[in-house]
Amino acid sequence: MLKDMFEELSEGVFRRRFPFLRSNIGVVIGEDGVLLIDSRESREAAEELAGELRTLTPKPVRWVVNTHWHWDHVFGNAAFPDAVVWGHRTCRRMLLDHPVQHREDARKWMPEDRWGEIDRVEIVPPARTFEALAAVDVGGRQVEAAYHGRGHTDGDILIHCGEVTFMGDLVEEGEPPKMGDSYPFDWPATLTVALPTLRPTVVPGHGGLLTPAAVEESQNLMEQVAEWLREVLHEGRPAAEAVRAGPLPEAELRKALARATA
Ligand SMILES: [Zn+2]
Repeated sequence: MLKDMFEELSEGVFRRRFPFLRSNIGVVIGEDGVLLIDSRESREAAEELAGELRTLTPKPVRWVVNTHWHWDHVFGNAAFPDAVVWGHRTCRRMLLDHPVQHREDARKWMPEDRWGEIDRVEIVPPARTFEALAAVDVGGRQVEAAYHGRGHTDGDILIHCGEVTFMGDLVEEGEPPKMGDSYPFDWPATLTVALPTLRPTVVPGHGGLLTPAAVEESQNLMEQVAEWLREVLHEGRPAAEAVRAGPLPEAELRKALARATA
């Protein structure tokens, strides 16, 4: 049953996990309609999701919330023309200002036989933005969004509903954190502020479910990354040597170094 693809984590709060990039999509069903958390990597992918949703509920998608501006979380926004798209104000600005870069990023990860989907994407930035806090009542269910500072990008938000917190790519499961657009010196503090707000089940942008304890481990890891960066920069150690003995795989440490010295 298609319906079984949606895992109910709290009353009316679901996640759907897709094989591509192990991406998680959040679904909140209220009396007034459906709220989606992230919209997949293309219009075609989002339309597939919309089809699956119809097996779960006849209610329309009225809200889409983007956890951050990375292409694999926002490129499906256009498939929900009747929905109000929400996001951090940085999410809107980055999508408006760098359309070429987002398509280039997508080509690095998408298999070549899907590049047509990237060409066809209509980039739809959030129409409703906020700086620190936002709330949406989907009908008997309150969805809260919060920004606690820079981390994986400059616009990652947490979305809470019922017993669940969706964290986007501020945490990863089964993969190292992605440093390419990150703020490595800010990331640990952002997680420290977020930790006491977490609900019992945490859904990362990619991979399996987490607990607040796992997010705390992630916070420790980001602390180590920041500490490693401070040491390397302070000692002026050559990058080639330093990345062989750091707290993340070499490729991510190189990106972290580039971000720290940008
Ligand atoms: Zn991301």
